Amino acid sequence: MKRLIVASAIGVLFLAVVAGQSRQPAGTTHTGPAFRFNKVREGVYHAIGTGSLAVVGNSSFIVNDTDVIVVDDHVSPAAAWVLLDEIKTITNKPVTTVINTHFHFDHAHGNQIFAPGVQIIGHEFTRRALLGNPTAMPLYQGYFNGLPTQIETLRKRIDAEPDAAAKAKLRTQLQVTENNYASQKELKPTPPNVTLTTQMTLFRGDREIQIRFLGRGHTAGDVVVYLPKEKVVITGDFLTSGLSNMSDSYPEEWAASLDALKKLDFDTVLPGHGEAFTDKAKIDYFQAYLRDVWSETSRLKKQGVSAEQAAKQVDMTKHKANLPIQAPGIPPIAATRIYELLDAR
Ligand SMILES: [Zn+2]
Repeated sequence: MKRLIVASAIGVLFLAVVAGQSRQPAGTTHTGPAFRFNKVREGVYHAIGTGSLAVVGNSSFIVNDTDVIVVDDHVSPAAAWVLLDEIKTITNKPVTTVINTHFHFDHAHGNQIFAPGVQIIGHEFTRRALLGNPTAMPLYQGYFNGLPTQIETLRKRIDAEPDAAAKAKLRTQLQVTENNYASQKELKPTPPNVTLTTQMTLFRGDREIQIRFLGRGHTAGDVVVYLPKEKVVITGDFLTSGLSNMSDSYPEEWAASLDALKKLDFDTVLPGHGEAFTDKAKIDYFQAYLRDVWSETSRLKKQGVSAEQAAKQVDMTKHKANLPIQAPGIPPIAATRIYELLDAR
């Protein structure tokens, strides 16, 4: 019994050292697993949220001979904490390394839970962005400020819902949103403590893990994580299974940077949103979309159309067979971004 207590105390201490935070973050409560781990190769997992906790982006993790490398750590300290907790169902090896594919809140806002001894690797732009004031950026502001309204709306819907099963479902959604809000309030954006500009490679036994910057695209500092032997590439939002957010993007350069991705020899993509896929034609579809969205928005701007109006008018429905597009219009944040880039020329 005593031995058990000592062992579990060591376990707690170990977790605290690895996680770097003596106190569990707020908002980690959830019912059932928070993640589904999709094993794509021996030791290579794609982690997708189940909905029982707000995690937003996907992460991936690589279990090596003696350690674990995590790629992206979700939307909040709570989400990252629970990820580490659930990784323990797969392995007890310590997480020594985290790679941030880019600085966006849904991929890097778990960074703060890791101890200073854990290497957090990202592009030097990602470090600058996270050292700056990332929570003041419109993308995060829109997300954070929307949470109280979502909570209020859910409460009203729960009160008005007559069906017990539907009410229970809404209650879960409310719990998920309240927990996320509680964790966001504890947020301290934490930058990578190791940076790269073009490429670095980690070696773990027989495994080679390349971290590559392929040119500006989704942000000015996205990296992909490429496992040449396993023929797997982890792409964050540089390439997702659908459309990526464009608020900090360089759409024209992005299409070209994706050509560099095509040159890598891989057959499985683990994206930052959506399921893993093997269909490389998705890269072509997305490149075609980026080129069109750029030229269409530029054309409207030349005609004197406002960014707000252009967001409604830009018609990308010709891509709807290959991408999740239902009707004309693009997100206003995408139109604003393209206008900004054109103005800066
Ligand atoms: Zn992103």
